[in-house]
Amino acid sequence: MTTTTTPLRPGPTESSFLLVDGKLVPGAGGVFDILNPATEEVIGQAADATAQDMDAAIAAARRAFDETDWSRDVQLRVRCLRQLQQALLNHLEELREITIAEVGAPRFLTSGPQLELPIQYLGYYADLAESYAWRQELGVAEPMGVRTNRYVLKEPVGVVGAITPWNFPHQINFAKLAPALAAGNTVVLKPAPDTPWCAALVGRIIAEETDIPAGVVNVVTSTDHSVGAQLATDPRVDLVSFTGSTATGTAVMTAAAQTLKKVFLELGGKSAFIVLDDADLAGACTMAAFTVCTHAGQGCALTTRLLVPRERYDEAVKATADTMAGLRAGDPDSSRTICGPLISARQRDRVEGYLRLATEEGGTIAAGGGRPADKEHGFFIEPTLVAGLDNTARTAREEIFGPVLVILPHDGDEDAVRIANDSPYGLSGEVYGTDPDRLAAVVAGVRTGTLGVNGGVWYGIDAPFGGYKASGIGREMGVAGFEEYLETKLVAEPAS
Ligand code: NAD
Repeated sequence: MTTTTTPLRPGPTESSFLLVDGKLVPGAGGVFDILNPATEEVIGQAADATAQDMDAAIAAARRAFDETDWSRDVQLRVRCLRQLQQALLNHLEELREITIAEVGAPRFLTSGPQLELPIQYLGYYADLAESYAWRQELGVAEPMGVRTNRYVLKEPVGVVGAITPWNFPHQINFAKLAPALAAGNTVVLKPAPDTPWCAALVGRIIAEETDIPAGVVNVVTSTDHSVGAQLATDPRVDLVSFTGSTATGTAVMTAAAQTLKKVFLELGGKSAFIVLDDADLAGACTMAAFTVCTHAGQGCALTTRLLVPRERYDEAVKATADTMAGLRAGDPDSSRTICGPLISARQRDRVEGYLRLATEEGGTIAAGGGRPADKEHGFFIEPTLVAGLDNTARTAREEIFGPVLVILPHDGDEDAVRIANDSPYGLSGEVYGTDPDRLAAVVAGVRTGTLGVNGGVWYGIDAPFGGYKASGIGREMGVAGFEEYLETKLVAEPAS
């Protein structure tokens, strides 16, 4: 291990490398450009891996799992995770600037889930690995008359293929890397082509500033989605941990079935923000507007359907539209910005397509609806409120992934729950109200993996996160997110 902390300046020489078998190597496909989504300027290049590079990365991860002590030596893993956490903290301000430039992440979010909190996952999972009951006694029993002592050993699954999206790259990369490594697995990380640096720079820090053995972590950046798909089909991979769209997740699960590997999926959402008739309507509408504008709506768990009492619909539309009009899309570099740019021209085209669809379906644009007039460059969209639709509209059912809120009327608590559940997704949600019994009934009725009540924040290192229905399979974070990366071995021996 070298002890230098060379400044991380992304560019052709510093971040255009894959991490394969402990070495920083160029991609066989050359390099590809990275754009700053707020300026549309090329800010550097990343290595473009081919199938051959991915093959080498999987081979290295397999070898590191099968032939080194990593999977058995908890203390080595704990030390390496803490060492990586400290190395990342040594580069915190450089990583912050790179994350803002590459992801278009508003600066304030880098103090939370876009950077600083994910780095803490390493310490959390190091602590958990240290205190975890790797051997769990089941006690003596007499199955079929044989007096037997039984215990369970918790063991790593093996080689993990981690495939991640671009919207919260550090959060999702570390929510996979930290528990998978703490549990004793080896990993091939394949980040999204829109945000390769967030992963590539972590790869460089691992190679240059930690004792993590060669092959334990491999980072493979590529423009070719089929390179990621190899992780699903290759029999040397034991588990695919995927975060991204439901369509891609379905493809990953289908491909993984051919080799019967474990699949962990965190997918899309179209979550409901329910306002009951005894809630502070204006306060709830303001919160719903802020939520959907955060990181320009590019969050799977952001609430994107606002359900308000029908008799106060017009009042709610006005309150929400007024707030959204004040939340202008802005430079992510500014600490005052909440709504930055979308990640790419492709994503902006997609959002604009939904805005056209909303009016074709009979909706009205109550706020925003287009590109901000004051922005010549950057993939910005104004915070937008769509009114006048019901929950059968595609605009109300499909994930848009932009700062677009659809406001829908409901006819009471049961109807609100029915509308919230009338969705292929079940990722998150919010309910605002006063009566505790009515709030409890809504909490019990909504079929989602997370739910906030009156502004309670469900995000946290120790809080299991994941989806019902088409929003995923499994839970990330917390103890549940650690156990996703473990196998269970039952051992039985004659009792004395
Ligand atoms: P995406 O599904 O297009 O891509 C995700 C990743 O999968 C990328 O790394 C991509 O290169 C890779 N990929 C694409 N095709 C593949 C294939 N056939 N096999 C294997 N890998 C493949 O998603 P995106 O556009 O990058 O991200 C946005 C989506 O992610 C949204 O739907 C959002 O809801 C979802 N998301 C979900 C969560 C969650 O935790 N539930 C979190 C963040 C984002």
